[in-house]
Amino acid sequence: MHKELTNLPVAVIGAGPIGLSAAVQLLKRGFTPVLFEASNQAGANIARWGHVRMFSPWAYNVDPAAAELLKPNGWNEPTATDFPTGNELLEQYITPLASHPEISPHLHLNTRVKSVSRLNHDLLRTEGRDKAPFVLRVSNPDGEQDMIVQAVIDASGTYQTPNWLGTHGIPALGETEAKEAIAYGVPNILGSEREQYKNRTVLVVGGGHSAFNALQDLVQLADEHKDMRVLWGVRNSSVNNVVRSPENDELQERRRLEVRIQELLEQGKIEVFTELEIEAIQQENGKLIIQSGSKTLPPVDRIIAATGFRPNLNLLAELRTSLDPATQSPTRLAPLIDPNQHSCGSVPEHGLAELSHPELGLFILGIKSYGRAPTFLLRTGYKQVLSVVSALGTDCIATAAQASTTPTPLACQG
Ligand SMILES: Cc1cc2nc3c(=O)[nH]c(=O)nc-3n(C[C@H](O)[C@H](O)[C@H](O)COP(=O)(O)OP(=O)(O)OC[C@H]3O[C@@H](n4cnc5c(N)ncnc54)[C@H](O)[C@@H]3O)c2cc1C
Repeated sequence: MHKELTNLPVAVIGAGPIGLSAAVQLLKRGFTPVLFEASNQAGANIARWGHVRMFSPWAYNVDPAAAELLKPNGWNEPTATDFPTGNELLEQYITPLASHPEISPHLHLNTRVKSVSRLNHDLLRTEGRDKAPFVLRVSNPDGEQDMIVQAVIDASGTYQTPNWLGTHGIPALGETEAKEAIAYGVPNILGSEREQYKNRTVLVVGGGHSAFNALQDLVQLADEHKDMRVLWGVRNSSVNNVVRSPENDELQERRRLEVRIQELLEQGKIEVFTELEIEAIQQENGKLIIQSGSKTLPPVDRIIAATGFRPNLNLLAELRTSLDPATQSPTRLAPLIDPNQHSCGSVPEHGLAELSHPELGLFILGIKSYGRAPTFLLRTGYKQVLSVVSALGTDCIATAAQASTTPTPLACQG
């Protein structure tokens, strides 16, 4: 690496669990991290689904390197086999880590990274590019400024860029106009948002565990409020495959949730609409009318869009990324996680080789590295961080960057 570059800090975008883990690993290896967090708290995206119980236990959710840092500071290590809610993850892990005296001086809250580029290099200019530091345009309450760094770890997550309800990947006709009646993600149905759901007809759209969480909570609310109707719309032709995890699944909470939804279906507490391809949402007399091909669904009061997330790539538009055109994950990672290609029970371990880009020193890590693929786990993210940060400052970075546009063979098929 160029001599002057090595004196500069390494930027980390986002103080979620993966950004914090990157800060820990950077400090451990003698780098100076500068950690930018758009919100007023670390773990801000997790706070948005804090009421949801995680399906991975504490043993999966804590980075071992972070635990080593926290322990001498009197941290009460949670029981490895317990399953925290998002809020418990925040209170018992993320917040203590963010406020740790070795981490907090490097953390800049209320500071949004707006764009990243290379000093004196726009996207087109190649000469001297690899030796040029990165420039981050950051915005905080005092205004905007540019920060100069040697490398960039983008761990800014995907929760704030949910997928649309529209079947074509763009908003359904009328979707943006109906936004007040649509919740993207997993709303707090039994808590702070209860009033919006009780005695309403609610449609949940999506076939994953976020949809299951919403359905479970809606049915519980409907048990107390008899005028409620719980509708579930999926793209598939049936919902026979609700219980997908093996009986001895390591993530027991995931299987428990699947079994619970199966029971609720058998009890007739959820009305199912299959082959849903939402084209238009009209508003009539305070109700939403959903058009799916030639079908029209019963009028609903609210929709919960549990349709997944996509990465915001605008931030990196001036950098040379290598992204798979379908998953929008790094090219070499895509074959390991693409749900179109296989259905591995678990994603194989991966690291620097799969996470590099032609832009030397740029890494997208954490849930954003999975692009639109839905199977990210924190445990995988901590291993990503370890692999990438251990290689910083070595020749491996350049080798991996050169190979970053070549897809790897499939790790498994199903
Ligand atoms: C309902 C639900 C349940 C889940 N359950 C599990 C589970 O059981 N187990 C599991 O392993 N995973 C689970 N996940 C996945 C989970 O979201 C991720 O594991 C975890 O949050 C990813 O961490 P991250 O650090 O990559 O991103 P995030 O947690 O999303 O953190 C990104 C951070 O970046 C900040 N940010 C965004 N843009 C900018 C910017 N431009 N500048 C500065 N800061 C920025 C955000 O404010 C945020 O703090 C679940 C997700 C959901 C939605």
